[in-house]
Amino acid sequence: MLAEQGRGGVPQQSSETVLRMKQQLDRRARFVWPLIRPLVRGKLAKRCARCSLPEAFTKLDAQGICGECATHHAKRAQEAVDPVAEAKLARETDEALRAAQGAAKGPYDAVLLLSGGKDSIYLIHRIRKEYPDLRILSLLVDNNYMSPVALRNAELAAAQLDVEHVTIRLRPSFVHAVFRYVLTRLERPKDDYPLYALLTGHMAFDTGRGLAARVGAPLLLTGLSRVQNVTAFGGLELPDQLQASRSGIPLDALTPSADRHHWFEPSQWPADRIPRVISPIAIWNLSEIEITEAVLKAGLLPASHVSPVVTSDVIYATFLIAEINQFGYSSVDLQWAHRIRAGIVERSYWINILQMMEYSARTGRTPWFKNALATAWSLGVNPREIGLPA
Ligand SMILES: [Zn+2]
Repeated sequence: MLAEQGRGGVPQQSSETVLRMKQQLDRRARFVWPLIRPLVRGKLAKRCARCSLPEAFTKLDAQGICGECATHHAKRAQEAVDPVAEAKLARETDEALRAAQGAAKGPYDAVLLLSGGKDSIYLIHRIRKEYPDLRILSLLVDNNYMSPVALRNAELAAAQLDVEHVTIRLRPSFVHAVFRYVLTRLERPKDDYPLYALLTGHMAFDTGRGLAARVGAPLLLTGLSRVQNVTAFGGLELPDQLQASRSGIPLDALTPSADRHHWFEPSQWPADRIPRVISPIAIWNLSEIEITEAVLKAGLLPASHVSPVVTSDVIYATFLIAEINQFGYSSVDLQWAHRIRAGIVERSYWINILQMMEYSARTGRTPWFKNALATAWSLGVNPREIGLPA
């Protein structure tokens, strides 16, 4: 079955199809791709032998190493923070979470953003364990393009950890307008946070900040990792008192007035209703490998539900495939090269995923490519407009 009208009227592939496709990608990356790679080398870009940056983005030296790796052995994300300031921030964050337990006037001390990925599941588990009296409202902001695995993970975790949980599914027309705008104006990816990840982040963070303000919860907890926080916001804390950067996208103009409340506007709230935003995982500074182990050990998720490949939004593949066709590489290549260089993810797995997506983008032969086309159509975008065969 190719399409269904289920998710908020958005014509997309059925959730079972998406689930099978994502699990297949994860399994093939682990077991099959290393056998296929030698046969399809001609379709693949040369990549840095140490991280994975593609040659289309950067020059490689005679040893096949990129400039970033040659000059930048240390871990960029770790370097960005001074250790004394870091210890102080960790202490202050712990004190803030301890003091918040049962302290709000309203029914909740914190809104916790649950995305259904392993990081936010780990976050809610550890917060429940270390701050058992924190009254949590967990929130999933569904942009209509979420992975069915992530949706299941979030519901299961909230039930298993006995937390009150709400889902806000954004209006499809509102989300479409924003994604369509960005997808049809792609720019050559630079070495920063991928724009569409930032956008889905804005949708979730701002909806979360708005909900926290409305229910009088003084804290908003996010599952952002250190690398995500540093590359997206230049530090370990979100600028919670400020309007989040809109990344040059006219979000207000793109948003009908009925949906504009999703963009949190601090000036419309009294100062004591503006939640403080904390990303504890960035402060605890755990790697993907450590989080995966902890989540599996605590039995929070089955092993097949953990990889970001199975939990990431379906729309990412559309952006990624369009970027590879337009520029020869994608923002995802840059994002994972950072993480590989920082030593927080497994290179052998991620290089396989990146190459499989690249192969898919260049040949159009795989189910992921077909899914990316279906997603483009569902946004009202003709795939030809974004450099793909219709
Ligand atoms: Zn490199």
